[in-house]
Order: sequence, then structure tokens, then C-alpha cells
Amino acid sequence: MNAPARRVTALAGGVGAARMLSGLAAVVGQPALAAVVNTGDDMVLHGLHISPDLDTVTYTLAGAANPGTGWGLSGESWAVMASLREFEATGPEPEAGRLTWFNLGDRDLATHLFRTSRLASGAALSEVTAEVARRFGVQARLLPMTDSRVETRVTIEEPGGPGSFAGRFAGLPPAPQTPPATPSGQVEIGFQEYFVGLHHAVAVKGVRFVGASSAVPAPGALDAVEQADLVVICPSNPVVSIGPVLAVPGIADAVARRRETTVAVSPIIAGKALKGPADRMLGELGHEMSAVGVARLWAPLAAALIVDTADSDLAPRVEAEGTRCIVAPSVMSGPEQARHLAEVVLGAFTG
Ligand code: GDP
Ligand code: CA
Repeated sequence: MNAPARRVTALAGGVGAARMLSGLAAVVGQPALAAVVNTGDDMVLHGLHISPDLDTVTYTLAGAANPGTGWGLSGESWAVMASLREFEATGPEPEAGRLTWFNLGDRDLATHLFRTSRLASGAALSEVTAEVARRFGVQARLLPMTDSRVETRVTIEEPGGPGSFAGRFAGLPPAPQTPPATPSGQVEIGFQEYFVGLHHAVAVKGVRFVGASSAVPAPGALDAVEQADLVVICPSNPVVSIGPVLAVPGIADAVARRRETTVAVSPIIAGKALKGPADRMLGELGHEMSAVGVARLWAPLAAALIVDTADSDLAPRVEAEGTRCIVAPSVMSGPEQARHLAEVVLGAFTG
């Protein structure tokens, strides 16, 4: 009988992962935890380097996250956004929302200012991430998936018809690379333009992780995967949260090599994402919109998949994909539920 895992490394996106990590931290303690976090959502806006998933994980583990949104800081104030709105009102960017489409709270802005200035002075994102974690008192080891720039780009049906998208959101630098030729009526945009700017209310035709093929894992990321007792693929969007992490050469292979002690948690419950577009995105990109679709994606990497009790009838189909199915309540509506799910995760390979 194996003892429950004590050193845990998670592959993480944002909110779903942050909840999972807090549950795990409640059981094994933060010092035993490492997370390799998606940075495909990162963007430069108003000249600031913003790392949404790293910040969500950091703020959540610090107990400082806004419980209402899951992102940003609790007790935040919004004076900078209000001032920016005054600039929208008086031009030369007259359209409401053009400068304020991505909300940045006043205290949150300090994180982006700090990160940007440290990066400009030559620090690596992994170093800055550790510095931000220290400032927030986080003891878990938080690692970006890579120190280089990887950008998740999404091809969508152009809202409002061909040519209408150009310049819709201000404050962004030009696109990182020439996009592939897209059929007329389609346009490739940055992940946050899709997710926040368009509220993900458009059909996705394709996803690319620009820069991933030449990226290398951040220092310590492969060791964290190799040396943990247990690897957890968090309940994050499989396509745009876990997908970019696995697209960094070396990470997927390292997880596959230790598949027998890797467990995944399905973010899809009863065919739906709890929040966000993970369900639709799976469907739009040709995957089954269910825990079975998730099992098909993760079976090569994880020897077990946890699916929600609402999906217990899918267990035979999950197992037919070649991964053991563990059925458990998986909605982390509060710390108790997150801790309970963490215990299931940690016990996946005991006995
Ligand atoms: P984002 O980067 O903040 O969009 O977050 P993630 O990619 O980490 O998380 C989005 C996914 O997490 C969605 O598909 C949700 O269904 C899933 N999710 C969020 N909270 C929970 C939860 O409590 N349990 C499970 N099983 N999935 C969750
Ligand atoms: Ca994210």
C-alpha cells in the first residue's frame, strides 16, 4: 500500500487550477506544492506585462483573490480605470471601452508595474514570478511554463463581418507574427481579445500557441514534474489553459513518462464548463464536449481521471479511453469542497 502523495506538481491554468491548488495546499501544505502555470494568456497592454493565470494562482494561494470573480484582488479599488474612462470620453479614442476593455484594479496594477519593470531590467519571468509570490506570502513553488513569450492566438468568425475587427481594442502592441492566411470573414486575435474583449461569445475556428515550438520549459519546471510524488492536471480549460503548457517542448513528454502517477481532474461536468468557454471550445475544435472528450485528451498523460458524480454513468466510456475513472464530487464551491477533492486526488494511486 502506497502512502498518500506528499510532493505534488500541478499543471495549471487560472481559476479552476487555483481552486484545486488551494485544496491541495490545505492537505499537503504549500511548501510541498509546485505548479507549472499557463502563460499563453499573457499579454502586453498599455505597455504592461500581464500574466493572468499566474496572478490568479498567486492571489488565490495568498488568500487575497476576489471571491466574486476568482481573478483580481479582494477589496480592490478602480480609480485608474475610472480615470482612463475620462480619456475615452474626451477622445481621441472616443468609443466607450476601447481603453478599458480589460479591467485592471489599482492594487493589481502594482503587480503588473513590478513585473514589467523587473522584466525590462533583464529578470526572467520565472524569477519575477517567485518575487511576486514572496511578496504575497505564497510558499508554493509557482513556475511559468516558460520564460519566453508564447502567445495563444484564436481564429474566430469576424464579428460584424470582414474587416470590422481591426483596431477594436486599444492598448495592445501589434500581433506577434504574421497570422496564417485565414479565410475571408475569419480573423486571428489574441486570447484576451477573444476571452475578455468579446466575452468568448464567438465561434472558435482554430487555436495556435505562437512561439511555443521554440520555447524551453522554465528553469525547474521539468524537475518539478519529474521529482513530484504525484502530478495533477488541474480542472482547467484543456485547450487554452493546459494546451499551451503541454505545447512547450519537453513538458508533455515528461508527464507522459510518469503517467502511472499522474491524475487529471475533468473541468467538464455534465457536458458543461462551470464557467468560461471550455465546453464550446472543445466542441468547436472537434472534441467530444464531455468528460469522455477530456479522457481522450488526457489518457496518454494520466493513468486516472476524476469525473464528477454527475458523470458517473460515463465511467465505462472514460475507462474505454484507457484511463482509470474515479468518480467524486468535483465542484469546488468552497474550501471544504476543494479540500475534499484534493484528498481524492492525493489518494488516486494509494491502496
Ligand atoms: P481561467 O484561466 O481562469 O479561464 O481558468 P481555467 O482554465 O483554470 O479554468 C476554467 C475551467 O475550470 C472551466 O472549464 C471550469 O469548468 C473549470 N472549473 C472551475 N472551477 C471548477 C471546479 O470547482 N471543479 C471543476 N471540476 N472544474 C472547475
Ligand atoms: Ca486563463
